[in-house]
Amino acid sequence: MSHPFDLSGRVAIVTGANTGIGQAIAVALAQAGADVACVGRTPADETAAHIRALGRRAALIAADLSTIEPVERIVAETVAALGRLDILVNNAGIIRRGDAVDFTEADWDAVIDTNLKSVFFLSQSAGRHMIAAGGGRIINIASMLTFQGGIRVPSYTAAKSGVGGLTKLLANEWARYGVTVNAIAPGYIATNNTAALQADAVRNAAILDRIPAARWGAPGDLGGAAVFLASDAAAYVQGHVLAVDGGWLAR
Ligand code: NAP
Repeated sequence: MSHPFDLSGRVAIVTGANTGIGQAIAVALAQAGADVACVGRTPADETAAHIRALGRRAALIAADLSTIEPVERIVAETVAALGRLDILVNNAGIIRRGDAVDFTEADWDAVIDTNLKSVFFLSQSAGRHMIAAGGGRIINIASMLTFQGGIRVPSYTAAKSGVGGLTKLLANEWARYGVTVNAIAPGYIATNNTAALQADAVRNAAILDRIPAARWGAPGDLGGAAVFLASDAAAYVQGHVLAVDGGWLAR
């Protein structure tokens, strides 16, 4: 009998897999046995090398998710390269910081297009394939700002709050087809996305003071949650947003 967390024979798409959280999740899925299509605008050569060193297959798919133009091609290229599609991790994302009174339409649209619109339409494209195939797993990367308001990141908060709602809507529509849709809400994780916060001594101290675990998260801290939600062990977990935050939301 196989282990309930075993992903052997499964194929995953991870967007934004060249660095940070996406890279760590791609490697964690491969460690659990999955083959991985690494999707992004910067080639994920390093990630693919890690995956292949684990004895798994990796495919590199070039795509800019600031528009929805590549979504059907991403699914088609994954199936062509790796034979099937079982798991989609919507990880690619950007952030724009600015006071609400000065926030520009360009900073609004850029974040909503990448962090929300592409998440929906790539999920739609993958979901159509998974429904026809008899099941699958979609994992969206949410945020503390799926639950909280944050400050100076209006389009990011709107997008990540939207991701929380979308996760539940897609779960409701697709549960009957064996497609689970869940999200992971990372706390404060040390990546490029949070470099400005880490470099700001005042914000950095305030953030650390509030985290019960008393440290920034590492990208690898997200791997276990991703493997769990991608696995048979989570077959009846639907529409859930799982915080991996060192206790931030518990404060
Ligand atoms: P990161 O290191 O900046 O990585 C972001 C990834 O998204 C990169 O691979 C990036 O590619 C990709 N990406 C951005 N825009 C793209 C586009 N238009 N097309 C294709 N790929 C694109 O940040 P991260 O912290 O790992 O973030 C990953 C996810 O976690 C994001 O959704 C972020 O909002 C979320 N998150 C992060 C934290 C945190 O504390 N770090 C907390 C909560 C949620 P390039 O390298 O080419 O830019």
